[in-house]
Amino acid sequence: MKNLIAANWKMHFDVKEAEDTAKRMASTIKFNGIDIVVCANFTHLDRLNGIFNAGSIKLGAQNMYFEERGAFTGEVSPLMLKAVGCEYVIIGHSERRHIFNEDDELINKKVKSAIEHNLIPIFCIGETYDEREKKQAFSVIERQIESGLRDVDIENVIVAYEPVWAIGTGVAADMATIDKMHNFVRPFVDDVPILYGGSVKPNNAEELAHIENLNGFLVGGASLKAEDFKEIIEKFTKIKGEKYA
Ligand code: PEP
Repeated sequence: MKNLIAANWKMHFDVKEAEDTAKRMASTIKFNGIDIVVCANFTHLDRLNGIFNAGSIKLGAQNMYFEERGAFTGEVSPLMLKAVGCEYVIIGHSERRHIFNEDDELINKKVKSAIEHNLIPIFCIGETYDEREKKQAFSVIERQIESGLRDVDIENVIVAYEPVWAIGTGVAADMATIDKMHNFVRPFVDDVPILYGGSVKPNNAEELAHIENLNGFLVGGASLKAEDFKEIIEKFTKIKGEKYA
């Protein structure tokens, strides 16, 4: 099974900061048997493509629209992402679901379109704090998978389990919860990598890497510093690298 660690830079860097961080990553992170992806803002992708081009880091976007072109003001198409060197695209991130009201049906269209255009979707799922409190975590995840991946050839998908209550809080979900949720997701997606996301940091990456059905991370805040991101990759590969690479 492929292992993968992806950075989600969200809306944090200006182009100069993005270039500087990308250069530091490109010069320090070496190929180590797992896929490394940086998902950056649309406006920076072309420049970053030039930096990552020759190295082992792959480029991803944080969102896309499902149509190729047309009257969709403000949107970016899969063809546009391909043209600037993207190989991956995050789809259905909780911030897209909850701030921008993306529903399962739209997410499903985006996942299908990404695959049709040879982009690998990093398909995000995860329950909110309220849903967990109401004991709905499993049913929410099941609904998100069944609707979001309806009629999708899942062989070409990466799944990221990101409990909304652990994103950006500095406190990751506990090991038992992640283990339980990844084990729940596994039968729906066979051999597809399942990433965990939600406050992954250099100081918890090694412990989290011990979880059986966990094939990598989606890292937000800690991916903004090249050194922290590199340390997370090293901690993960120390545990999973030799066994799975
Ligand atoms: C994310 O943005 O997908 C994420 C997991 O963020 P953080 O690592 O900052 O919690």
